[in-house]
Parts: sequence; C-alpha cells; structure tokens
Amino acid sequence: MKPLNVLSVASELFPIIKTGGLADVAGALPSALAQEGIAVATLIPGYPTVMKALERQEVVHQYPGFFGGPARLLSGRAGALDLFVIDAPHLFERSGSPYLASNGRDWPDNARRFAALGRAAADIGQGLVPGFVPDVIHAHDWQAGLAPVYLGLTDSPRPATVMTIHNIAFQGIFPADLLFELGLPASVFTVDAVEYYGQIGFLKAGLQLADRITTVSPTYAKEIQTPEGGMGLDGLLRARSRHVSGILNGIDDEVWDPAADPHLVQPFDRDRLEARAANKAALQERLGLKPDPDALLFGVVSRLSEQKGLDLVLAALSRLLKDDAQLALLGAGDPTLEGSFEAARVVYPGQVGCFFGYDEALAHLIQGGSDALLVPSRFEPCGLTQLCAMRYGSVPVVSRVGGLADTVIDANEMAIATGAATGIQFGPVNLTAAIDAFERTRNLWQDKDAWQRLQLNGMAADLGWSRPARQYANLYRSCVQAL
Ligand code: ADP
Repeated sequence: MKPLNVLSVASELFPIIKTGGLADVAGALPSALAQEGIAVATLIPGYPTVMKALERQEVVHQYPGFFGGPARLLSGRAGALDLFVIDAPHLFERSGSPYLASNGRDWPDNARRFAALGRAAADIGQGLVPGFVPDVIHAHDWQAGLAPVYLGLTDSPRPATVMTIHNIAFQGIFPADLLFELGLPASVFTVDAVEYYGQIGFLKAGLQLADRITTVSPTYAKEIQTPEGGMGLDGLLRARSRHVSGILNGIDDEVWDPAADPHLVQPFDRDRLEARAANKAALQERLGLKPDPDALLFGVVSRLSEQKGLDLVLAALSRLLKDDAQLALLGAGDPTLEGSFEAARVVYPGQVGCFFGYDEALAHLIQGGSDALLVPSRFEPCGLTQLCAMRYGSVPVVSRVGGLADTVIDANEMAIATGAATGIQFGPVNLTAAIDAFERTRNLWQDKDAWQRLQLNGMAADLGWSRPARQYANLYRSCVQAL
C-alpha cells in the first residue's frame, strides 16, 4: 500500500501542552499510525511550551504579515513527534492556557489566533513545504475548522480533509464582521461554508466542507445527530450522515502502564493486583484521607464543568460516603464546583480529599490507588479517564452516554455470568440513577471475588491505539481514493 502523509492540525498536543483529551489523542495517534504506514506531522501554534520543546528547528517559511504581525513556519521534532510550528509571537507568545487569559475569559483575538492555524494548514496542504506534501489534512476541533475553508479558496490541487469533533460543545463562533480580518472573502459567508446563524462558525465550517467527519465514539456519532446532542449542528450532521463516523479513542500504552508508571509508589499488573494497596495508602496520605485499606475509595480525575455531572456526586455525597467510603478528587475548572468540593472536604474530614489544579502525577496515582473511578458525565464524546481506570484496575462507574456507553460493560447479571463486565453504568443521568449506581458499586465491592473479576476484565481489555489507528488509516485511504 502506498505510504500516506498526513498533516494533523491541533491546538494542543501531549506531552507539550494539554487541557484535555484532545491533547492525548493528537499526541498518541502519530506513532500508532506509523505502524500503519502513515507518516504524520502535527501543525501546532507556537505557544511558549511548544517553542521550548521544539528540537532541530528549521525555518521553512517566513510570513511578513500573518494575522497582524510577522510569523515564521518552523519544522522540527519533539521527542518522537514531527512538528510544524507557527512561530507568531503576537498570537501565541502568552503564558497559561492556550485558550484563556488569566481572568478566565477567552483571549479576545482567538478568532485570529486559530484562523492562523487553519491558514497555515491550508498552505502546507497546497505545497508550501516541498519535502512534506500531505495527502490528508486531519483537522481537530473548532480551532482547526477553517483549514478546509482556506483550502477551498483556490483551484490548486488539495489534500483530502478529515474533521474530528472531540467535543461539540466548543464550536468557535465569532462575529461576522471579522470575515475580512480573517482573510476570507464574502463568497464564503454562506450557509454552505462559514455562516452560522449570522455569525462565523469555525467548527461548523469544517463540518460543512471536510470530506469526512469523525467523532470519538460510535454512540457520540449518533448523539450529535439528534437535537439534544447536536448543540445546533445536528441538522448539518444529519445531512452529511453518510460521511460521519465514530472511532473510539485509545490510551497510550507507554504513558498509561501500571507496571512501569513512575508516578505510582508500587507498580502492578494483573498478576500483582495486591500491590495496588500501597498506591491506595499513598493516595490516602497525599489527600489527607483516613489511612484505611478497607474503605471503598472513589476517585475523580476531571475538568470541573457542568458536562462532567459532578454536581450529582455532591448531591449524593452522604450516600456515596456511606460505610466510611472515601472520595479522592482531582479537578480544575468551575470555581463554584471547586468551592463546593472544598466545603465537602471540611464537612467530611478524612473522607473527602481534593486537589484543585492540573497534576499529571496525581492523576496517575488516583487511577492506581482508587477502587472505583466516577465519571457521571451528562455527555461524553469518548472519555479517557474510564479507559485509564480500567487499565489500572480501578472499576469505572459511569453514566450511559457517548463513549462511556461504548467502552464500559455494565456489571448486570448477564455480563457478570459471561465474565464480560468491566464496570457500572447508569442512566438516565439523574440523582436517583446515580445513587442507585453507588449502591450497586458498594454491593459489588463487598463481594471481593466479583470485584476482582471486574478489575481483571478491565485490565485485560484492548484499550490501546492499534485498533483505532487502523480505522483512521482506512478512513484516510478511502477519502484519498474518493478525491
Ligand atoms: P475532557 O477532554 O473532556 O477533559 P477526557 O476524559 O477525554 O475529558 O480527557 C481528560 C484527560 O485529562 C485525561 O487524560 C485525564 O487524565 C486528564 N485530566 C483531567 N483533569 C485533570 C487534572 N486536573 N489534572 C491532570 N490531568 C487531568
């Protein structure tokens, strides 16, 4: 099979810059795709952390004026990743979040910043870098959504385009009067291109114009085609449903390996499950929980937002913490939710432990030390933490939505009897169902053999990137052929 070149266009990339699952996916797919004969280079904005990580840097193009200032397109590497980087200090030389200023609001020039990402992608797509002409441009989320628009502005030959939705709640909607500032002609301000209810929709434009649309689980691919799940884009997606598919995310086997994880105090695997106890003890100590090996310890690793359903955990807290159970929470986001969990920590000393902020090491310790991991999301495109939990022998307790529905096999009678169960699912996403799920979790926990089977089943599941990489490779090939 002919080797393909793919330009992956992403606004975050693990391990260099990460706010969520998008970074994990963009960081892990390139090496998994290499096994499929596909060479991936990633185009990413030159945030300070990216500039620092870039090795063997070369200037491949100079833009005298690029969205308000001079810019350079650099190529180089970071670890095993091949990168193209937009070195545009006026757009990206800012510390902190890639999207938000320190006051928690979006950077006011986000339209220009991420239009620049789409523009540079289109330029590479049309041969700007002679040594790397992509067969496919794979645009991730709204930040990359304008790439197919810029590609369509000329008649030059173009690569195939794939647009992936990691979360349809983030759409990149901006005022119409920015059109010319973004270098777009009036002709694209139509319902068939960038226009979205009178404004400019970056994600909408990408979904309209990309050759193929994917999202990160088969169930979410269906949900976003409904009025409840589509957040305004369901009509477009239904109209294009022939080109919409869901490919589940994997997790990186090297980053998430309990047998060789530097963040654990004791490594373990399926044959050494008892070694988890030391991690549980370390987690209890780290978060000020009572050092009790027999307490059922629930973990949470999450953005704190309405989407993640953690208000249900708060509302059901007294039920969750019955019989000396404990909660270890790592999260960042909504200050109201942070305040409520902090208050819970004070009300339940030794039973609730929290850390607010981003902490990669603690995320690993929670996966390796908790007994069960809570993911009660209202919607969840794929979800990665339940996959990490399964790999680490923490039993996921999840709502039955999106990728959670696709990846966790509920411990119902049949699944237990056939030995397939890997966790606990509940639906609909409300307080009654959540409390019921916590009760079921407690009952299963009391049956040590049944609990261990859940752990071992989860740990044996194929959660890596090989299968998804094969699916992406097939998708790329089919859309290149269809061009
Ligand atoms: P989302 O992308 O919606 O935030 P996912 O479950 O797809 O949710 O991905 C979340 C990723 O971010 C996981 O790798 C998880 O371990 C990590 N993560 C979430 N919150 C934190 C945090 N506060 N500190 C460290 N890692 C976190």
